[in-house]
Amino acid sequence: MAIRGTNKQSGRNLSDIRLINRSVIFRTVREAGTISRSDLARQTGLNPATITHITRELLNQGLIIEAGPGKSRGGRRTALLQINAQHAYIIAVRLSRHNIQSILTDLNLENVIRRMITSSSLTHPADISIPAMFDLIESMILESGLDRNKILGIGICAPGPLDAHKGILYEPPNFPGWPRTPIREIFETKLGFPTFLDNDANAAALAEKLFGCAKDLENYVYILIEDGVGGGVMINGDIYRGEFDVAGEIGHMTIEINGPQCDCGNYGCLELYISPDSVEDRVRQAILNGRSSLVEDLVQGDLDKISFDLIVQAALESDAVAVDAIQIFTDALTVGIVNVINSFDPEAVLLGGKIGVAKELIYEQLKQQTFQRLMPRGEKGASIHFSELNSDAPIIGAFSLVLQELFQNPAFHANLDMSY
Ligand SMILES: [Zn+2]
Repeated sequence: MAIRGTNKQSGRNLSDIRLINRSVIFRTVREAGTISRSDLARQTGLNPATITHITRELLNQGLIIEAGPGKSRGGRRTALLQINAQHAYIIAVRLSRHNIQSILTDLNLENVIRRMITSSSLTHPADISIPAMFDLIESMILESGLDRNKILGIGICAPGPLDAHKGILYEPPNFPGWPRTPIREIFETKLGFPTFLDNDANAAALAEKLFGCAKDLENYVYILIEDGVGGGVMINGDIYRGEFDVAGEIGHMTIEINGPQCDCGNYGCLELYISPDSVEDRVRQAILNGRSSLVEDLVQGDLDKISFDLIVQAALESDAVAVDAIQIFTDALTVGIVNVINSFDPEAVLLGGKIGVAKELIYEQLKQQTFQRLMPRGEKGASIHFSELNSDAPIIGAFSLVLQELFQNPAFHANLDMSY
């Protein structure tokens, strides 16, 4: 029996290579902020003639501009290049359990229009929420006063399962109002902008690479701890998707063989111990069982108002119920991180989402426990970081899905040639 798999590589025509070089140069200019042509040549490994030719094209197209003279080299001042951030704009949308968030922004995330609605979400049926997303987007475009042809595209992130390549969302568990939904096709048909879809943890992992704490990392695992627990696995600078687009489901690794049943059908999944909802439930249950807690005072007796933030606040004040709940959370997270490091051997594990508020409380203990449990290795080892982007990582990630196309997809560059 043949085992499926292919390592076939397709060839490259000269025109493809020109577009790849354009993407590389554009990405290098953005990462540098400002850069001279000679530094561009050094950093990209391209020869000066190619740099001159391609930067002229990008300048003519308006994607980059000259930012003024740089430091004098041997008596001659060199012009610095930077991207022209207001030349094009991107729309990003995050679809989640509780709300829909959206931003419209320039390429540097500097001029940002932001919207959020709670009247539509994954909890509401698709035939209500999708038109609400259209209205949200149209209202942002109207407010911005932008010409529609300045908008490069729309990036959307949502919980999986989904097919990022085809742009299809497949019936997220517990959301019966969302049958198989071809998001890309629906948005492109209605709004006319190129549309990209990915799951929220993958998008957040990409955001950390472009804007957050993973700028210098190539191999890392991002764990998004929000309503659920997701993971984005970055290998050699690219998201690892797996054969069936469901890699990185870190929330559903078993950490307790005989643990309670999870929505996914399995038992003892990590998500049941570290999602903010699970920590809140644990504290609520302890109070209902008669333990007294500062958390009860903080919510003035209304146990529905218990939040992860308040539990962290109470734990920082040494409230026993809160401390116990955070300890279970920290122990389970430790096991999850150890399993991730043993599986992928990353440079770093990044923690993001709602748990940023717990950094001060758990960081040292988390690192210590993790390295006690890790398989012995050489002198080097993965580091653990809290996200710098916190809960904004997924929406910035949705924005990054479109930006990434500018850097990585020569065909997208080719389209730009036609639209400007
Ligand atoms: Zn599960």
